[in-house]
Amino acid sequence: MRITMTDWIHQVLDGYIKEGDCCIDATMGKGGDTYYLCSKTGIDGKVYAFDVQEDALRQTKEKLDKHEMNAKLILDGHEHMKKYVKESEVSCIKFNLGYLPGGDHHLATKTNTTIEAIQAGFELLKTGGIMSICIYSGGDSGFEERDGVLEYLSQLDDRKYFIARQDFPNKRNNPPMPVFIIKL
Ligand code: SAH
Repeated sequence: MRITMTDWIHQVLDGYIKEGDCCIDATMGKGGDTYYLCSKTGIDGKVYAFDVQEDALRQTKEKLDKHEMNAKLILDGHEHMKKYVKESEVSCIKFNLGYLPGGDHHLATKTNTTIEAIQAGFELLKTGGIMSICIYSGGDSGFEERDGVLEYLSQLDDRKYFIARQDFPNKRNNPPMPVFIIKL
């Protein structure tokens, strides 16, 4: 058998999302997570998805088109999410950092805008809602974004946020690090 990082993360998120909820995919990419969030929230729910690349919107639209899903695909940086999302009771916000595999490595997420987006996300997340950040590092990505995001998270008030991160001791080639933040 094979356990993918995506399935692993979705198993955690499953417990926090129900039909009718509003969710945000902060890094649309190929739309896998947008699809996942839509399938959980259903036609009565709403998913806002962000990416800075036209190609991500095109691929995601293609993935969702065959299904009845209530998603709004937005061509803009996640750091501007508050401009678009008017709901303030978001149950899940999902980030997949780094670059789009097979795409332009220069169009990767960046420490400063990622942190701005996390801060904006905290304002939209409901109490008991979850933010998931899958941090990719090593290779072209380097370690700057990982270290910057972890440093930012480490100084948050533990009475306001419960934060867990996971690592995979025997996994080769700089495995990604999933981080889960629950707003208390
Ligand atoms: N590294 C992951 C995929 C990350 S995809 C993996 O291997 O599976 C990251 C996506 O974030 C890319 O599609 C990229 O275009 C997008 N992105 C980069 N900067 C962004 C920003 N400011 N706002 C929203 N999306 C952004």
